[in-house]
Amino acid sequence: MKSPSLQSIRNYACHTLALTTFLDQPGDGRTQPKIPAADLSWALLLGPILRLGSANRLEWLANFGHRKDLGLTRKFGDDALAYFTERVDPEVIRHRSAATLKLAKCNKVFEEAAFIGLAIDGTGAGRTTKPACPLCHPIKDSKGNVISHNHHFVMVSVVGAGITLPFDVEPYKPGDSEYAAGKRLLKRAVSHLGPRFAGYVVADAKFATAPFLHTSDQLGLPIIARLKQNLPELAAAVESRFGRQPPMDTFSHGEDRIEVWDADDFDPWESLEWTTVRVMRYRQHKKDGTIIQADWLTNFSTAKLRTRSFFKLAKSRWEIENQGFNDAKNLYGVEHIQHHHPNSMLVNWLFLLLALMIERLYRIRYLHRGSHPVLTAMQLKDTLWLSLRPVGADSS
Ligand SMILES: [Zn+2]
Repeated sequence: MKSPSLQSIRNYACHTLALTTFLDQPGDGRTQPKIPAADLSWALLLGPILRLGSANRLEWLANFGHRKDLGLTRKFGDDALAYFTERVDPEVIRHRSAATLKLAKCNKVFEEAAFIGLAIDGTGAGRTTKPACPLCHPIKDSKGNVISHNHHFVMVSVVGAGITLPFDVEPYKPGDSEYAAGKRLLKRAVSHLGPRFAGYVVADAKFATAPFLHTSDQLGLPIIARLKQNLPELAAAVESRFGRQPPMDTFSHGEDRIEVWDADDFDPWESLEWTTVRVMRYRQHKKDGTIIQADWLTNFSTAKLRTRSFFKLAKSRWEIENQGFNDAKNLYGVEHIQHHHPNSMLVNWLFLLLALMIERLYRIRYLHRGSHPVLTAMQLKDTLWLSLRPVGADSS
């Protein structure tokens, strides 16, 4: 087995993922840079990879460890990172993340599945009691007093292809909406990735609005969206039909038993410019007796997507929750604001997703060769820490 180290990750990022030029030229907007951009952009990737959580810890580490081990040429303070991230052009990072995904696809990183999915969903992060920035959404108490602020963004992730890779975010201000931000994000993702990269879009019921579905149509991507009571007429028509019918198919999903219903001739609601709507219902019977039922709508034809594949694609939406938001928040520190400035937060989030992409590709597709098990993200992080030497230690 190859032994993981930060130098090895950096070599992998620079050579296999072709990130050398990006690290040198990440859209740096500083006019008279004193610290090389490559140090600062690598530091923004290093933070999430080592789970540092704050620029102060990075500063400590750069003093404590061999800078060569860390991949840094000099030390710097958190003020340098703040100044830098205020001025980086986020579009440069977004283009590079998309290019990394395209390279991964060429290198057969994804399963030879029929479809690569793009999951879209929104969340909040970086709750703060500090003075508001333009992206701050007020949080009020029961009397209507503003007690703190939070930040909202929509994220897009590659799903359904054996490795979950979130790669872009679109923040939105108060007064803007989650699904409008989702529309902008989906358009940008497809424009950066090209029209043939993905095979479908999957989203929660919040995005099951005619404008969002039409955006996906215009981009040439079939869409799968959760159907809930926010579409009351369609939900009622589905219940009145499927509620009276026995399941059309039954199969196993892990230890669970799945019953499914599927029909492609429901009427669209008034603003939806589709001829018909296809809806699948699944009822999942878990071993402990719990039953989960969910309805999903799509414009995939039954010829192109059979019922069991429809079920699988609908389930791929959970990847953005579990391997996207949950991991980004619990493991990589997306909740923590490094510097409360709109562009800085966006740039930090985009670097964090790029770090997560590099870490996953390195761990799951590069280190994993032969029969030994894939290292968990935690094991990789611990191994990287153990490979660092303190300053002054004998290198022999
Ligand atoms: Zn703010």
